[in-house]
Amino acid sequence: MTTYPTRSKETAEHVLIVGSMAFDDLELPSVNAKDVVGGAATYAAYAASLFSPVRIVAVVGEDFPTAVLEELTARDVDVAGVERAKGKTFRWAGRYAANLASRETLDTQLNVFADFRPKLPQSFVDSPFVLLGNIQPQLQLDVLSQIKAPRFVAADTMNFWISGERKKLGEVLAKIDTLMINDEELRQLADIHNIRRAAAEVLKLGPKRLIVKRGEYGAMLFDKDGVFFTPAYPLEEEIDPTGAGDSFAGALLGYLAAAGTIDGPTLRRGLRLASAVASFCVEGVGAAKLKNVQRADVMMRLEALRSITKTGG
Ligand code: AMP
Repeated sequence: MTTYPTRSKETAEHVLIVGSMAFDDLELPSVNAKDVVGGAATYAAYAASLFSPVRIVAVVGEDFPTAVLEELTARDVDVAGVERAKGKTFRWAGRYAANLASRETLDTQLNVFADFRPKLPQSFVDSPFVLLGNIQPQLQLDVLSQIKAPRFVAADTMNFWISGERKKLGEVLAKIDTLMINDEELRQLADIHNIRRAAAEVLKLGPKRLIVKRGEYGAMLFDKDGVFFTPAYPLEEEIDPTGAGDSFAGALLGYLAAAGTIDGPTLRRGLRLASAVASFCVEGVGAAKLKNVQRADVMMRLEALRSITKTGG
């Protein structure tokens, strides 16, 4: 049986991530936090860089801390594709329900993302693993069109784009291998409540496989081999789920790039690993906990995840 860990980071392939880099204002049951550094690309990069070298394509404003870019660079994240533009960084504000299971967007300000036209550094165009993180579908397309021959392209999106940019999102779906969304977004995209039937509908729109993130209820993979399920790690204390989905996606891509293979068993192992990584994200506000996680912590949590699904007989 092939198991974890994967190849060392030095021999892993590159993951290119496009997505938001942001300031978030979070209303959480336990605390309110303002100006938290977040964004889909930020969370995904922290997670993916546990396993493979990462390249980010994004834009930040004059107000974004240089220290965060330096911190990412120190963990093998190439920020040559992060443009610093005149103006303000993307902003999102959200309020979570008391059980953390649902949230409401209070405000989205695209700011510098509104006029962003990504031009990939020459050193990025050969990226084999691509994560089109949550951002305008047109930007996802612009980035993808500049990559020469990607081996694996996954995309994430969210309700904001499903309702506001459905047509463009359709173009993205036709070009990717894997769509990764949460159950609420899947229902919205397919306009069907039942997860299995909604998944079948979405697979008709283009992607070869669909990964459905279900928060504390784990994640599911729908592909030609059927359905796979991984539980989420049952945490004792859940603080802030923001970015858990992006951490999940980043960890999966990072793992695949380190494994260098994209077959069914590797994907299934990757899903379980991604579940373990995402659980750390929920334990702190923003990326506070995630960014200090080590591979050894992930392996321990993975072992725990394995044992909670063993029947022992
Ligand atoms: P997640 O909790 O995984 O859905 O990701 C939350 C992150 O997504 C936050 O850090 C936000 O800054 C970012 N975000 C929220 N809305 C959008 C949007 N419409 N486009 C891009 N990023 C967003």
